[in-house]
Amino acid sequence: SKTILTVDNLHVAFKTQAGKLTAVRGVNFELEKGETLAIVGESGSGKSVTAKSIMQLLPAATTEVTKGDIVYNGESLLKMSKRQVTNLRGSEISMVFQDPMTSLNPTMKVGKQIMEGVQRHEQVTKAQARERALEMLKLVGIPQAEKRLDNYPHQFSGGMRQRVVIALALACNPKVLIADEPTTALDVTIQAQILDLMRDLQKKTDTAIILITHDLGVVANMADRVAVMYGGKIVEQGTLDEIFYNPQHPYTLGLLQSMPKLNEDRGQPLQPIAGSPPNLATLGEGCAFAARCPHAMTVCHTYTPRDTVSETGHSVACWLQDSRVPASPDKAEFVG
Ligand code: SF4
Ligand code: MG
Repeated sequence: SKTILTVDNLHVAFKTQAGKLTAVRGVNFELEKGETLAIVGESGSGKSVTAKSIMQLLPAATTEVTKGDIVYNGESLLKMSKRQVTNLRGSEISMVFQDPMTSLNPTMKVGKQIMEGVQRHEQVTKAQARERALEMLKLVGIPQAEKRLDNYPHQFSGGMRQRVVIALALACNPKVLIADEPTTALDVTIQAQILDLMRDLQKKTDTAIILITHDLGVVANMADRVAVMYGGKIVEQGTLDEIFYNPQHPYTLGLLQSMPKLNEDRGQPLQPIAGSPPNLATLGEGCAFAARCPHAMTVCHTYTPRDTVSETGHSVACWLQDSRVPASPDKAEFVG
């Protein structure tokens, strides 16, 4: 099968004093070998929580997967032992975060950090590990890589530091790279260089990438497929072309309309989506977007829309696209 990772009906809750707050409410997607799936949405939509729960990086004291499964290469990650998950982390599935210092040890030379990563997962000599570290720094475009092996993280610029993190993440040739806002902290020129680098490396290594971002420009440059998240769910999912040229969900449309166009409309004010993201504590039945949606009908406030999936796999969760909606939806006669 071409599928390397499946997220199936994932529910993740935060444990709060007021009770459980469900931040991810039934997320489904499949990742194929070598492809880039972008997960987009506003902050608080659940995209980072989804990404972190794949590698079980959320603190168990405050978060819990309450339903669903995450399957890597045919095996449930949620049923694996801590040790098995630790072994997969870095070798099969790697993560790159917005802040490079999340992944780097400030008190250790970068070469040593990459070597340790390699030696943790592979039977190699110290010399071989050093050779790999050097190779990786060269691969990610660090000038004078040989010398730079012996530098500490603070001796690199922000962009170079993120390159080091990518070198570290790819050193064991993982099948899946989860990149959570990897370029958000960088200035625009450096951002473009890092995205180019990720695309080049992906061609060479055939790593599948889950790219978490709020930036549709980044999505346009990188993604094969796109999942749009809102209120803890994927509300629309499809190929890059389907999402950009044939968006079906009113929220996706709103996002696209708020995207600055590079060559036209310069100086035109953006049209941000009116209203604010839903309060997860009070979110009940119905469409989470209903309070902000220009097309909301009575049914939208009463029943949660289900996924309607086209032959090509373009899925959308909106009553406007669902033939099961009643003839006069404002009367909410629909019986789910
Ligand atoms: Fe708008 Fe209703 Fe569709 Fe939700 S289900 S996006 S409220 S039309
Ligand atoms: Mg985030």
